[in-house]
Amino acid sequence: MIADIATPDLRGRLQRGAALGPTTWFRVGGPAEFLVKPADVDDLRQFLSRLPPEIPVTIIGAGSNLIIRDGGIPGAVIKLARGFNDIIVEPNAIIAGAAALDVTLAEHAAAAARSGLEFLSGIPGTVGGAVAMNAGAYGGDVAHVLDWAEIITRSGELLRLPANDLGLGYRRSNIPPGAVVVRARFFAPAGDAKLIATRMQEIKTSRESTQPVRARTGGSTFANPPDMKAWELIDAAGCRGLRNGGAEISQLHCNFMINTGDATASDLEGLGEEVRRRVAASSGIDLHWEIKRIGVRA
Ligand SMILES: Cc1cc2nc3c(=O)[nH]c(=O)nc-3n(C[C@H](O)[C@H](O)[C@H](O)COP(=O)(O)OP(=O)(O)OC[C@H]3O[C@@H](n4cnc5c(N)ncnc54)[C@H](O)[C@@H]3O)c2cc1C
Repeated sequence: MIADIATPDLRGRLQRGAALGPTTWFRVGGPAEFLVKPADVDDLRQFLSRLPPEIPVTIIGAGSNLIIRDGGIPGAVIKLARGFNDIIVEPNAIIAGAAALDVTLAEHAAAAARSGLEFLSGIPGTVGGAVAMNAGAYGGDVAHVLDWAEIITRSGELLRLPANDLGLGYRRSNIPPGAVVVRARFFAPAGDAKLIATRMQEIKTSRESTQPVRARTGGSTFANPPDMKAWELIDAAGCRGLRNGGAEISQLHCNFMINTGDATASDLEGLGEEVRRRVAASSGIDLHWEIKRIGVRA
């Protein structure tokens, strides 16, 4: 544990021991040693440049792809908020702050009749999380629409990196630990407003009928192995509806885990590991977590 961190000039907020569970979709997990909400890019740069390098830095977005472990997160946890959510529509592109929600970006694009970002409308994360995870759905992903992203490095340097330099692959990027995505520019050429609205409605309808979108969940638990669907392997291993404490494999979509009410992070992580064990035993396939598990065990 760190006794204190000096932040005399921080214009944003710093909270010691802030509860993080309520900020995530799963609603589980212990506190942040320090939760920092910088006021804007300059505030974040200053904060990181002055933070001693031995203090770990963790970034959270909307917490829609996270299990925060029950012992919480040591060091500084950064959550971007106001000051990072501007959206600017340009002739053939849209620039969005990293705290803007994907759905808000998709709605701005639709309102301006800009195409290509419809797939983001059903992903419940932030723009920063979408870049870091190369979020994708319904045939689209960030890698195919991103022009550049601005990041602030762990030492406080602001860099604008072209998409090709971000190592975007299937649900991954090579953004270094402790670096924060603060803004991104997406290609969005003019399109037909009616077709864009129809596509977004189709995505909404499809998701609501196939995914537990209103549950306490973290989206896809495991990445699809090459040429396979994780949910089919999980189903074939008999794990649909499997429980561990308050954690359950969704009956509706068995690559989704659910907190049925009183799950701990340990229940969820334990359930995921049991699924991995059963899938390996039944199919020989080693599933890899797509959900990020961060922090320390209780
Ligand atoms: C119901 C449901 C449906 C989902 N459907 C999809 C889907 O179709 N496609 C898909 O790709 N995902 C899906 N997800 C998963 C999730 O929404 C995405 O991975 C999303 O991009 C995560 O964004 P976030 O802001 O919530 O990030 P978080 O979950 O808070 O964090 C995820 C990772 O991104 C990093 N990160 C977050 N913000 C930043 C930042 N500003 N700078 C640097 N790193 C950052 C975190 O450190 C962490 O490693 C779904 C989740 C749910 C709950």
